[in-house]
Amino acid sequence: MIATSIPSPRRFYVETWGCQMNELDSQRMTGQLMQQGILPTREPKEADIILLNSCSVREKAAQKAYSRLGEYRLLKRDRPHLMIGFCGCVAQQEGEKAIRRVDDLDFVVGPGRVGELAEIVQRRRVSGKPIVATGFPDATTRNYELDTLSREGTFKGMVTIIEGCNKKCTFCIVPSTRGPEQSRPLGDILSEVQHLLDYGFVEIELLGQTVNHWQDPETGADFAVLLDKVARMGMRRLRFVTSYPRDFSQAMVDQFARHENISPYLHLPVQSGSNRILKLMGRGYEIEPYRDLIRRIRQARPGIALSTDLIVGFPGETEEDFQATYDLVKELRFAQIFAFKYSPRPGTAAPRLKLDEVEPKAADRRLQDLFALQGQIQQELNQDLVGETFEVLVTQWGKRAGTQTGRTPCHRLIHFEYGDAAVELGSLIQLEVEKGLPHSLIGRRVA
Ligand code: SF4
Repeated sequence: MIATSIPSPRRFYVETWGCQMNELDSQRMTGQLMQQGILPTREPKEADIILLNSCSVREKAAQKAYSRLGEYRLLKRDRPHLMIGFCGCVAQQEGEKAIRRVDDLDFVVGPGRVGELAEIVQRRRVSGKPIVATGFPDATTRNYELDTLSREGTFKGMVTIIEGCNKKCTFCIVPSTRGPEQSRPLGDILSEVQHLLDYGFVEIELLGQTVNHWQDPETGADFAVLLDKVARMGMRRLRFVTSYPRDFSQAMVDQFARHENISPYLHLPVQSGSNRILKLMGRGYEIEPYRDLIRRIRQARPGIALSTDLIVGFPGETEEDFQATYDLVKELRFAQIFAFKYSPRPGTAAPRLKLDEVEPKAADRRLQDLFALQGQIQQELNQDLVGETFEVLVTQWGKRAGTQTGRTPCHRLIHFEYGDAAVELGSLIQLEVEKGLPHSLIGRRVA
């Protein structure tokens, strides 16, 4: 049963799944609730509002989200005034269906409506009716208040520059969960970055599903212009995710050579090493230009760490197609790969292509082969860094007592023993690499 008259909430709990866009959305929701005087808690049991910010990328995403909502519903037994909000990409996908399925769900908020959260909570409290806020208002009505953003930490600031995606990759659900592309105006982005720098943020990360497809809605300036302008603002580190290979122009490549503070790290999803599969995926590029792009990027910034996304077992993928992916990984020696087994997503085009499905066992084996190869490459690449000294941004406490962890400019994890006194999180220190492991480095402090 849904309670109709809900007392003023005092505490909220947010669970966030998925990508940086979701992380930032959670920070936006947190900020709005805090502005209403509602404070965060780490304990769902203490919360008056629980938000599940879901992600639809992984397999069985909806099932997992419903199961978590089911767990949260049980808390209503002791706290009948508890409000449960279903947010993020699965919420966008499910909409009204979620309200029918979870009968005491209080509201559903899609990524395009995150800016309305405070108002939705208020409306729910007084109306007594569940609320569904999905879809994508246009730029003029979309609410993006910087003042209501509660940043996590004080050293890494994420700045959304473009939302949604206009591409139609046949495996991807993003265009339907995050809507069509909308670039934020250049002026807004620059003021947000300046605001973060004034607060002492060390690293700025520009975000978008196709970050390098950003275009200033007023002047038409492209991402290379934006990168140049932002880098000149003088932060220590500037990063951006996720870039789309076909949209990565030479002018963008040139920024890596021009600005040392653009981190020597780039995530450039290739998805497959086979042109036939890339075509079926609707990616709009072939492997040769991708290879050439990597070559030019490495020329512009020697030593840059590159990472990529790969899907194995896409419908119709033969052993030869997979071999092409395997060979590409071997040849390009990425610093990191994010590889997944294909699984169909509701509303995407791939299942309608009526291609032969890859046997799950074969897909599993291909994924394992890829991981084994990559593990070896990473071990070698990290081992090659032994003896080098990096400026490291200290980001967290280590798992072992007396240790801390940070990130090199090329975004590798590095652990170190801090000795007599721990280093303040967010500081930049010099570490010499002593050991290279497959997934991280071990360093020691140098003067
Ligand atoms: S570019 Fe393709 S994979 Fe990336 S978000 Fe858009 S549709 Fe999805």
